Order: sequence, then structure tokens, then C-alpha cells
Amino acid sequence: MVLPIKKFPDKVLRAPTQKVAFPLSEEMKKLTLDMIDTVKAADGIGLAAPQVGKSVKLVVINLEKSGLELFPLYNPKILKRGFKKVEIEEGCLSLPGIFGMVKRPKKIKVEAQNMKGEKVVFEDDGWVSRVVQHEVDHIDNVLIIDLIKKYTQGEDLVKAWKKQKLF
Ligand SMILES: [Zn+2]
Repeated sequence: MVLPIKKFPDKVLRAPTQKVAFPLSEEMKKLTLDMIDTVKAADGIGLAAPQVGKSVKLVVINLEKSGLELFPLYNPKILKRGFKKVEIEEGCLSLPGIFGMVKRPKKIKVEAQNMKGEKVVFEDDGWVSRVVQHEVDHIDNVLIIDLIKKYTQGEDLVKAWKKQKLF
């Protein structure tokens, strides 16, 4: 089931998230499937649970266009960040019309759990690294508007939000 995507300034995007418990509840299994439907329908490369109004540590990564199978990560944590940083243009499904350059470490080491609750640890220095960092930020209530120094689209809207003290 495709879920509505919460847009800034919805407060749920800034609400603390809870750890996912295992074995997965029926509710969490359904949320995972719904988030997969939602990220695909929105043609997004990643989606975090707060973006569909659920304050839990769950993200889905959809890099099928890069040849990877879509996968969920439960309770993801970035264990290590590489020294080298790269600046890439990012957008966000919760911030339609806003794009800008975001500087992030190129390489990260991630620890998370899979659907069975098994621990998974991996390193990446490509798109998975970039998308996981963006989605883990959502779980930590950080949005790209907190990080962008140089906007490529939508700067006027962001300035108006700042004036209204929305962030
Ligand atoms: Zn986002």
C-alpha cells in the first residue's frame, strides 16, 4: 500500500525515533512492505519511516536503477566515516522542489539488522553510502535543509521558512 509522504514542516520529521524490536511485529512487517511500495511509487532512491509518519529506525534503499536489489535496514548506525568528503546535489521526497549541494564522507561503514534481525555490517563508497547517510539523517531528525550551504533549487522557499522560524 502506497502511503502519503510527510512534507516539511510536518513535526514528525523532527520527532525522536524508536528502535525496531525483533522478531518483527506484524505492524512492522506491513510498514516495511508499505514503505517499499511508497518509495517505488515516488520514484525515490531511499525512504525513512518518519517520512511516512512512523517514528521508528527503519529505512529502505531503492537503487534498483543501479542494479541493486531494494533492501530495508533496521536500526542502521554509521560506525565509521571516511576522511575524504564529496559534494553531491541532493533532494528529498519530504522537501519537494528543494535541491542543493550536500557534503558528506565518501566512504562509510554501516551496521544494521535485516528482516530476520540478523546483524549486517558493510562498507560502501558509492551511491549506497550516499543514500544510507541521507536516510540515517532522517532517523536522527536531520534534513538536507540543515546541511545545504549552496542551493540549486528552491532557495527562496527555504529563506521564507527561515523567516517564519520553521527551522
Ligand atoms: Zn529525505
